[in-house]
Amino acid sequence: MNRLLQVFACVVLAPACAPPPITPTPATDAAIALSGGPNTSMVYLARVPNGVIVIDLGWWGAERSVRRALHALRATAGDVTDVFVTHSHRDHVGAWRLVRHSRFHLAGAERSAFVGQRPHRGWVPRTFERLKQSEMPRPGDVDVRTFSRDTTFAFGNDTLYAYAVPGHTAGSAAYLFRGILFLGDAATYTRWGGFGPARRGYSDDAKVAARNLEALWARLPRSAVRLVCTAHAKCAALTPELLADIRR
Ligand SMILES: [Zn+2]
Repeated sequence: MNRLLQVFACVVLAPACAPPPITPTPATDAAIALSGGPNTSMVYLARVPNGVIVIDLGWWGAERSVRRALHALRATAGDVTDVFVTHSHRDHVGAWRLVRHSRFHLAGAERSAFVGQRPHRGWVPRTFERLKQSEMPRPGDVDVRTFSRDTTFAFGNDTLYAYAVPGHTAGSAAYLFRGILFLGDAATYTRWGGFGPARRGYSDDAKVAARNLEALWARLPRSAVRLVCTAHAKCAALTPELLADIRR
């Protein structure tokens, strides 16, 4: 696990740090898959006693990179039992067909957008949608399980914490697993501005997103978060400085 944290920190925090290979050693029981597109999207995979769980599903080329990460875990797509979706923008659900047999967990308010029944409100995703319709699952294509409040999921000795953080999209969610808080696009990172709140234009309502992200911090298990990651593979230790940065 330490190796994985080191990879996260090195890849995304320290420009001077040569990017290490992102494939974990065979002894590691978690992996990262990065996918292409205008902004790299991250998929996190972890071995649990009865299979593999996945957080988010990337974008361009995601199926290939997810297969590669599964191979590093000595697993196949068939081993994936549960997928946790931070939100249903197209750049985070790319490989859904590969794991369509799994349970898909998302916040209840995200369900209709996830199955293509409701558009997102941000002008950027709306423009993308006009240019090229996203290939979301249709109702019934996958087994969708929703949560409407902070929820925990047990996988052997592991606990995954799910939090509703609406605003970036109607049902945006964050997940805490093995010390890593996956914020989706509820927080963002730019080279010029560092970490910050959800971006206007991309978000249904950036102000609501910032307010709900602020409300998240107090709900997290004390001392349980070692690393905070955006859905675009930008991670940092959870420190007062990071919170101040995000709040600006
Ligand atoms: Zn998004």
